[in-house]
Amino acid sequence: MDSQKDRKAAILAATLSSLWTDTEPAVRERVTAIALADADAISDIFYAVLLDRPDSNTFLNHTLVQERLRPSLARWIGALFTASTDEAIAAVLEQNYQVGLIHARINIPLTLVNAGMRIIKKELSARLLAANLSRAQTAAAILFVGELLDTVLDNMHEAYLGDLLGNVRHQQSLKMFMSGPNLALEGERLKSSLFDWLRNTVVSFYAHDDSNRANPPGIESSDFGLWLNHKAELTFGRVTELDRIRERTDRIGAKVSAAVEGGWITPAFVKELNNDVTEIAYLLGTVIGKAMEIEGGRDPLTRLLTRRFMPAIFQREVSISLRHGKPFAVLLMDADHFKTINDTLGHQAGDSVLTDMAELLHAHVRAGDFVFRYGGEEFLLLLTEMDEASLRMKSERLRRMVEEHPFHGAGDGLRVTASIGAALHDGHPDYEHTVRRADAALYEAKRQGRNRVVIG
Ligand code: GH3
Ligand code: MG
Ligand code: MG
Repeated sequence: MDSQKDRKAAILAATLSSLWTDTEPAVRERVTAIALADADAISDIFYAVLLDRPDSNTFLNHTLVQERLRPSLARWIGALFTASTDEAIAAVLEQNYQVGLIHARINIPLTLVNAGMRIIKKELSARLLAANLSRAQTAAAILFVGELLDTVLDNMHEAYLGDLLGNVRHQQSLKMFMSGPNLALEGERLKSSLFDWLRNTVVSFYAHDDSNRANPPGIESSDFGLWLNHKAELTFGRVTELDRIRERTDRIGAKVSAAVEGGWITPAFVKELNNDVTEIAYLLGTVIGKAMEIEGGRDPLTRLLTRRFMPAIFQREVSISLRHGKPFAVLLMDADHFKTINDTLGHQAGDSVLTDMAELLHAHVRAGDFVFRYGGEEFLLLLTEMDEASLRMKSERLRRMVEEHPFHGAGDGLRVTASIGAALHDGHPDYEHTVRRADAALYEAKRQGRNRVVIG
């Protein structure tokens, strides 16, 4: 996929490069001069117009625009209209690709991005018309601006659409994680096939008489048996539950064959078969439950959400919190000196500490919060509807909870501490911004000596 990105970038870079060489120097220089001189003014107009649009409300608020977006757009314009060397062009394209990814991440409608680009084009063109160039030069300058902006817009859209598709896929699996209808349905079908087989088998034994031996259907040729032999591993991979299911299925097969040889069965035998089948159904339920969690993005060790669900979940939270004015918080917790635990007690003990920690976290957040396994021994909590005081309290409580918890390592009562960095969402439409602030706070907590909370 990246090579496709590189190929596209190379095409766009070539377009920009020849645009610069093919345009008369006097024209280029004039465009650059105007773009640099008026970048601030154009940026002002850009946001004034966009803020008026109803579809921009959740993305832009006045302080955000004043403090960050306006100056950064002005810089963007400046960079774009001075990047004439191949190196600078490549840098501009890469930067715009990242901008496209951010737009996708925060779900900005493409129409809004396009509208913004048109504003810049219009403002620059108006200034070029008033610039006292010859008619031919004015035309060339306006074409130059149009071509340049269209090319970077193309590039942004590339990033946007590529990322959007990825997000849609994740959102679909997120739905799956909520309901998992296919696997659940498949499981029910298999269980009923299994009990059908049991009923047919028992009927076959009771229906036979001396002239014809009982001829029960083989479990291996039942729907369930066929699934087990052909498809189970494809669906679930090599998991121990399947081995146990196979073992019991074989045992049932052997028992039934023996009963056929003997020619008759007892009520105790029927009860035994029923127990075996019930146990298989239970194992089936377990393996399907686990698979649904993995399918749904659960981390296999801790069963927490994995980070691939962050974009979908955070996008919702950002828009909810902007709408209701109740910020969420990002809390990062990282186990202290975890490497030492692994080194002294073994990796398994380390794993068990992580599982305990995940359970603790899960038990101590509210139902509306989200807990992700963010890295090896690092957890990310999305705490909804927080303010600074409650974030401080909550973080401190979680830190103390870990400090005071007797973990199972090798034996019980292992003491572990963790450092916490947290940040309150400040209205920035890109959630990564808040995650980065929490990360910087965590770094600071480690630096100050660990086992402490820093709020970013
Ligand atoms: P610090 O206090 O600075 O965070 O020190 P640290 O040792 O916790 O941090 P570092 O990043 O140096 O090491 C993290 C260790 O966590 C290294 C890695 O082996 C271990 N780890 C990561 N994931 C797992 C896992 O799933 N299971 C186990 N047992 N260990 C893991
Ligand atoms: Mg650590
Ligand atoms: Mg770490």
